[in-house]
Amino acid sequence: MSEADQSGVRELTHFIGGRSVAGQSGRASDVFNPALGTVATRVPLASTSEVSAAVAAAKAAFPAWSETAPIKRTRVMFKFKQLLDAHHDELAELITREHGKVFSDAKGEVIRGIEVVEFACGIPNLLKTDFTDQIGGGIDNWNLRQPLGVVAGITPFNFPMMVPCWMFPIAIACGNTFVLKPSERDPSVSGRLAELLKEAGLPDGVFNVVHGDKVAVDALIEHPDVAALSFVGSTPIAEYIHTESTRRGKRVQALGGAKNHLVVMPDADLDQAVDALIGAAYGSAGERCMAISVAVAVGHIADELIARLVPRVKSLKIKNGMEPDAEMGPLVTAAHRAKVSAYIDAGVAAGAKLVVDGRDHAVTGQQQGFFLGGSLFDDVTTDMSIYREEIFGPVLCIVRVPDFASAVQLINAHEFANGVSCFTSDGGIARAFARQIQVGMVGINVPIPVPMAWHSFGGWKKSLFGDHHAYGEEGVRFYTRYKSVMQRWPDSIAKGAEFTMPVAK
Ligand code: NAD
Repeated sequence: MSEADQSGVRELTHFIGGRSVAGQSGRASDVFNPALGTVATRVPLASTSEVSAAVAAAKAAFPAWSETAPIKRTRVMFKFKQLLDAHHDELAELITREHGKVFSDAKGEVIRGIEVVEFACGIPNLLKTDFTDQIGGGIDNWNLRQPLGVVAGITPFNFPMMVPCWMFPIAIACGNTFVLKPSERDPSVSGRLAELLKEAGLPDGVFNVVHGDKVAVDALIEHPDVAALSFVGSTPIAEYIHTESTRRGKRVQALGGAKNHLVVMPDADLDQAVDALIGAAYGSAGERCMAISVAVAVGHIADELIARLVPRVKSLKIKNGMEPDAEMGPLVTAAHRAKVSAYIDAGVAAGAKLVVDGRDHAVTGQQQGFFLGGSLFDDVTTDMSIYREEIFGPVLCIVRVPDFASAVQLINAHEFANGVSCFTSDGGIARAFARQIQVGMVGINVPIPVPMAWHSFGGWKKSLFGDHHAYGEEGVRFYTRYKSVMQRWPDSIAKGAEFTMPVAK
């Protein structure tokens, strides 16, 4: 999927119809190693006609693939899973070198991707449907779940392997063919996945990768042969993709941004809550859609919570993610670092108390890398941009509230509703929280409640546009069309036309 040019920078290629295809548009974008601040790769940005070529390859592969027995489609998935296991470290390293997250975290991302492949290995059972014998005289009724055709996935930078794996293993196992448009900021791993799928025996054209930006995304939305789109990314783009795709009659699931709260009740185990906050707020430099970016301190707990957080934030091991003891790597690009830094400026200007300031954090020997230190704000209020908007960086905001009811009210008033967590030792509070909170994914003493592959992932409100959550059974429903079949045979057909509504006799 890549060749090095004379300067040593690798040039990525698209993957269409089972082979690498060099970009033809004349447009390309630099991909950085964010720890070093240097260009690692160049990614081609597809034109509309290059996207059309990928859709055409997927369309051509659909008839044979959709007619392939589910058990045979599954065998490719089993082989693919073995290859992912065998290439685990290589895939994680590709992620760290372009995203910046620490290697152990990247390995965890690979595992969460593999788990969806494992789920897809059970597709024959999941495509099984209902059958009613003898709904009427000599008539039976059953259901089919049939694939949609060519489906597309558009994915964000923050999980360059896991998020594509939320989509294509299930889509393909259900009999669809797939076009992936990965993030242009860390695109290498998607090409490697395409190669491994081919090695696993996937027929050419079933899985295609086109790199690109808005031009490629718009081409997928507008293409009449794309039946459905899965999107994961920021809320404005999710809303745009949902609106434009549904307007064209396509099925769409569009997962957006987040502002995830973690409530610390006065009866919580504070050591556990502090550990949870440090990992969930600063892990992956806060670039997770399930990162905790707001700690809601209830009652008297706030001062003690902050006193324990400050030394932990100041002593985060921030370095190149390939170093074994790194806890937090750089931000993905210089532009993103500047954006996060500007949010910190805005928080200070709005009157929040900056208890730990990560803006000038320097990493020895890595001055060109896109590093920021961890930042911690106290006395954050709901009118501030650092509270209302998704920062997507290593910044934790503390909001103080007097009681449990105020915590629930605060969270339910936010426009984002992806994930949430409550740390408490009171079962009654935990139950009330899980029932009352208007958020798609809830953790009780679990900071990042990302559902496992056989459950489904998705937020509420501005965190998801569409009706289906990602992967699990929701994924199977999204990637299949439901059909009801009713059948009888000539020996049971009564003579003569009937003009009344048919009922069981
Ligand atoms: P992004 O919205 O900038 O990009 C996502 C994808 O959309 C990329 O493939 C990109 O090329 C494409 N894109 C960007 N601008 C576009 C435009 N104007 N028109 C059409 N397509 C466009 O998101 P990102 O910065 O890559 O990722 C971070 C965001 O993703 C955060 O908001 C995060 O919360 C969100 N996210 C959400 C989930 C979830 O499950 N809800 C999971 C991961 C990430």
